[in-house]
Amino acid sequence: MFRKQCLSCKSADLREIVNLGMHPMADTFVPADRLDAGDRVYPLICDLCVRCGQVQLRTVTDPAERYSEFDYSYTSSNSKTSQNHWIEFAGSVAARTGLKSADTVLEVGSNDGFLTEQFQKLGCKCLGVDPSPAMARLAEKRGVRTLAGLFGRACASQVEQSLGRKPALIAANNVFNHANDPLDFALGVKELLAPEGVFVFELPYWLQSVAQRKFDQIYHEHVSYFTVKYAVNLFRSIGMSVHHVDEVDYHGGSIRVFVRHDSAPDALEAPGPEVARFIENETRAGLFDAAAYQPFMAQIQTARNRFLIEIYKLKLEGKPVVCVGAAAKGNTFLNYYNLDASVIDCVTESSPSKIGKFTPRTRIPICPDQNLAQYDSVHAIILSWNLSAALQGVLKKINPRIHFLNPYEP
Ligand SMILES: [Zn+2]
Repeated sequence: MFRKQCLSCKSADLREIVNLGMHPMADTFVPADRLDAGDRVYPLICDLCVRCGQVQLRTVTDPAERYSEFDYSYTSSNSKTSQNHWIEFAGSVAARTGLKSADTVLEVGSNDGFLTEQFQKLGCKCLGVDPSPAMARLAEKRGVRTLAGLFGRACASQVEQSLGRKPALIAANNVFNHANDPLDFALGVKELLAPEGVFVFELPYWLQSVAQRKFDQIYHEHVSYFTVKYAVNLFRSIGMSVHHVDEVDYHGGSIRVFVRHDSAPDALEAPGPEVARFIENETRAGLFDAAAYQPFMAQIQTARNRFLIEIYKLKLEGKPVVCVGAAAKGNTFLNYYNLDASVIDCVTESSPSKIGKFTPRTRIPICPDQNLAQYDSVHAIILSWNLSAALQGVLKKINPRIHFLNPYEP
């Protein structure tokens, strides 16, 4: 099914800006005992809402297929870099919002519970909500109380009952963009958040994805692609407002957005000047003009065509090519470039929950990073490019004869 209306403002004035062809779910790695099943693929197309600035996927997919059909395997604390990021997040958000140790914190999309645990360490009373039963179990093991469910208005009363009061802080990182109904998600936040509370969310910044041609941030699990302008419009429509935005270096460039009730006791305090600055930059970059995306599409096509010539030349010379990091975005890359197990030997990975599985549709086996040691000489594409610098150091220790390829330069 295709979306014909903006998920936020309901306008039907949607313009196609990106079309990447047919793609499977990006975060559903295939276990060995399911190799006999086919992979469902759906058109991966982004539309821009000309009225409010929302960028959304055209194809509607089922959250149950995205998060619970196989065990969802992305853990948000899967590297030292990500752990440090979430420790910093808890500290700086607590400082900015004046969070006190007895306050109540809700984390939506709490995944394996790592971040919620950081707020628990500050003495807060915490609860996590996550749609993946496998992740909820992991979080419970960590000692983080977690409800398995998809967040929205329907889930809000259950959360309030479980917490016993309205949370002073609701955090939702890399999850708001996953919501099939962002308006319902925002209304769930509005219903739950304490009158003087703060909602903070972080997700990849669309401005950076476009500027750096990181088209692989686009996949079926990411329903919306956030700009500050869109966030401001969405919350304005429900009586809340964005009062501060930080740009952070995570997932290749993210925004951390702070939102409050319009009726909050000191809500008259104007939004920071950076909010208007962000919107000016977004407008200047052409993010709200459908025609301005044509060079973006042309550049990613050129980068792909050039890279395919390079990689098939390596194959003709009999040289092995592997990928590193079984990230969701890697599946957008592999499918768009049409690189499957006949070209790529394997995807190396450190996460035990992915090793032994296969990439969706392209069916490339996922094996431990240590397998790189077996090659005399090997070319490698780092799929989790946001961790590239750290990974290159680690991999060079396993095999100093690795040549790293950059597939993104047009
Ligand atoms: Zn709209």
